Amino acid sequence: MVAHLEASGTPHYIGFQHGSTFADEVRACRDFYCRFPATPPQMVDEAIDHLQAIHSRHFPAMVQEMRGIADGSGLPYRDVLALNFFAQIVGEAGSCSNIGVSDSPQGPIVAKTSDLREVERDFLFIKRARPDDGLAYIQYTFYGTVWNEGGFNASGLSIVNSGLMGQATLRREGVAGFALQHAALSRCTTVDETVKLYSEHDLAKWGGTILVADAAGGLVLIEKLPGSQALRQPLRESHAGLLIHTNHVVCFENGTLQGDADLESKYGYSGLLQNSLARYATLERIAPETGHSLSGLQEALRNHSPSGPICQHGQQGLHSAAGIVIVPRTRTMWGTAGYPCQTPFEPYTLAD
Ligand SMILES: [Zn+2]
Repeated sequence: MVAHLEASGTPHYIGFQHGSTFADEVRACRDFYCRFPATPPQMVDEAIDHLQAIHSRHFPAMVQEMRGIADGSGLPYRDVLALNFFAQIVGEAGSCSNIGVSDSPQGPIVAKTSDLREVERDFLFIKRARPDDGLAYIQYTFYGTVWNEGGFNASGLSIVNSGLMGQATLRREGVAGFALQHAALSRCTTVDETVKLYSEHDLAKWGGTILVADAAGGLVLIEKLPGSQALRQPLRESHAGLLIHTNHVVCFENGTLQGDADLESKYGYSGLLQNSLARYATLERIAPETGHSLSGLQEALRNHSPSGPICQHGQQGLHSAAGIVIVPRTRTMWGTAGYPCQTPFEPYTLAD
């Protein structure tokens, strides 16, 4: 069973309800992520100040929500900032596998595994938010954060993501990838609006890939790294109607920005690139027989190919903590509360 939160009101009050409902969980999440042993405290302080300032300028509602989480949980505001921005402070390698189809009987569908380290699995929960000044949305997220694992909003706009192994290039004017997802879920209604939002911002340090689908039938893959962005729409020729992504650069425009093995081991993800390449090969291989339907994508997330399973059970320390499949037209997110192969997909809507 995944924990749920219902929250509505101002951004600050949405954060407050999150923090006060899950104060112990927020604290546990802070204790796990906010460890910066290799970074001098002064550098951590400077990074928090800078990230708080730049995100307040571009995404004030999101930062107010973080302050609300602090006020609700009783943690210092700076701790909640450090938790949310931990990847921009220390860097991280990403995980997860993404699949999207444009041509199911219900229109586009996007799907992903949420691949996490063993401890992190306890930090996932489902949040249904009704902001006063934006679109209602529902998502898988993490305690104490405004991150998105996968979600959709009242217009049907749906986003799933996967981490992308870049080079941890610092971009002073860049923002965190989760800030773009938070903004898109709060206010974008179409794929085009989301692409425009993404094109207006650079990333701060780390890359990410998202699949975005809308109720009008749009589907796009955005592979974004500091200083670069590439878009893909489903091809008609190969893998017709299908887009896939794991955790390495696949768009030629971003080809020189791939991180290397030294970098992945520095961030504690040794072997991630090989793992990502193996999962990608599996997706390419099963693509022709993957049903372009809700059940077809759920089945793909349960794949246990010996050479590169999509459902991960500890390979390179990754565990598929949830499978998520979202249908924009029916405004339904189907999600599991554990390995996609062992727990059923339950439907989540905004109406519950
Ligand atoms: Zn499995």
